[in-house]
Amino acid sequence: MRKKIVAGNWKMNMTFEEGQTLTSEILNIMKDEHSGDAIAVLNPPLPHIFPVKKLVGEAKGVFIGAQNCSDKEAGAFTGEVSAKILASFGVQYVIIGHSERREYFKESNEMLAAKVKLALANGLIPIFCCGESLEIRTAGTHEPNVKFQLTEGLFDLSPEDFAKIVIAYEPIWAIGTGKTASSEEAQDMHAALRRHVASKYGKDVAGNTSILYGGSCNPKNAQELFSKPDVDGGLIGGASLKSRDFVDIIKSF
Ligand code: PGA
Repeated sequence: MRKKIVAGNWKMNMTFEEGQTLTSEILNIMKDEHSGDAIAVLNPPLPHIFPVKKLVGEAKGVFIGAQNCSDKEAGAFTGEVSAKILASFGVQYVIIGHSERREYFKESNEMLAAKVKLALANGLIPIFCCGESLEIRTAGTHEPNVKFQLTEGLFDLSPEDFAKIVIAYEPIWAIGTGKTASSEEAQDMHAALRRHVASKYGKDVAGNTSILYGGSCNPKNAQELFSKPDVDGGLIGGASLKSRDFVDIIKSF
């Protein structure tokens, strides 16, 4: 089933105490104000995972995700964390292929495809990120460029596995820049990606795939973005660090 999802990507922010406060505030505001069916996924830095998970407890509609996982199964890979370890700590989602990982850590499509497979094999739901640079957007080749990222990262999966994937479209020029794609630009790309998924996996799978928008999404523009038929939620960076803003985005559906 196509879910409405608002995922908070804390990136490399928040000390232990700040993370605990943020989580408690989000839970309290959601309990008082959120009655819709949109779910929240909190993606803190790794050391927060366990304490944040403990705070969340059985709270309805709140899930825990990691920002990355290794493309290796296990063993001598100092500093890495596997999908299996994440799953054993109760993690439910994992962001894979964020543009910052692709760019700063040189993660290739091949590596991302391996991560997706390991995440799925360990019961994690991948939030698979894709998006084009400003250069590619200006050249007008953004649609084939982003479709290719899906093909390379995901189209090796069986239909059963693909059905578990969440896609996040994040134009790189909109991430952390305060510059958002217009709701029409987002809708056009989301519809194109859904058609692309349909061409490989059929209309039913495509219709059930959640496609999130990311890139300077905030409480002011979320409602307009989420009103579009192919925008099923958001992957939120900066605004996920403020409890009020994050919950207001969740309430924007
Ligand atoms: P932003 O980040 O909301 O701060 O633009 C989004 C993201 O990188 O996931």
